[in-house]
Amino acid sequence: MLKVDHLTKTYNQGKALDDLSFSVSAGQIYGLLGPNGSGKTTTINIICNLLAADRGTVLINQEPPSPKTKSWIGVVPQETLVYRYLTCAENLSFFASLYGVRGKRKVARIQACLEAVGLADRADSVAETLSGGMQRRLSMAIALVHQPQLLILDEPTAGLDLEARYEMWELIHELKSQNITVLLTTHLLDEAERLCQKIGILKQGRLLAEGSMAELRRWIPAEEIILVKTDQEAAAIARAQELGFTHRHYGNELAFWLPRSMELKEILAAFDGIPLNFISRQPICLEYIYLEVMHRDRTFRSGKQLG
Ligand code: ADP
Ligand code: MG
Repeated sequence: MLKVDHLTKTYNQGKALDDLSFSVSAGQIYGLLGPNGSGKTTTINIICNLLAADRGTVLINQEPPSPKTKSWIGVVPQETLVYRYLTCAENLSFFASLYGVRGKRKVARIQACLEAVGLADRADSVAETLSGGMQRRLSMAIALVHQPQLLILDEPTAGLDLEARYEMWELIHELKSQNITVLLTTHLLDEAERLCQKIGILKQGRLLAEGSMAELRRWIPAEEIILVKTDQEAAAIARAQELGFTHRHYGNELAFWLPRSMELKEILAAFDGIPLNFISRQPICLEYIYLEVMHRDRTFRSGKQLG
């Protein structure tokens, strides 16, 4: 459905995209996960034919970006773009016309899209009277009005409160049943983990890791992670090494990777003689995988500098 191949883009300040490749299959929700400035919006702008890459190609249904492919795509931009003084229905009507949706089909599409985003009862409300979450949902309805095959969501929940964020997640989840392909960007780990079948981890315009959660989990070859707090960190780390546990520092927390599942009493016995003030067992979630990917990237780079 979407294939991004070796994209490179340099602005005056430096490289925004550095040989970026990924592909999204039909019906999939793909998450491009990366911190601010990692190149997510730049990627979207190139896919949408708003920006030209220096090198590399984009194919949407095997075709390069063009006015024609534009009509296959719906975009919810990072900054909500709705006409504040128009009603919800008027906003949709305007954008439908832009895409050549007219007559009876237009009326039906406006109604269907308002329903899809839970705004059917707000059809005649002026956009600026809606909450931030509702405006974002209106923006999503606008993106869907011409029945695109590919929906692009640029940080769909940025700036929303928790409740609105949950509503948006539910909406995105529902899209899956409509067999629409979604590319979403986010800097939120839980958002990516919750919604996406495939995740690409982006840093400074480069994809450092990619895969389904099951595939990404291989970055941490362990059964479980334990976080501990202790006044005798060096002793705890030395003991862990004897036991064959890998250790990491996550911020100011010390973590050990358990190579097999262990009973709590077995873990405590393993650290016998070392006072632990705190211990918490953690599943291997995207947060730890993300930290590992970043950790290995740093190690790799400092290794390259030394070598
Ligand atoms: P993200 O969406 O992941 O936050 P962006 O794609 O917006 O990242 O930006 C990637 C990098 O490119 C950043 O360093 C940003 O400052 C730079 N950048 C983005 N747009 C422009 C622009 N129009 N002119 C110059 N630099 C830009
Ligand atoms: Mg952005």
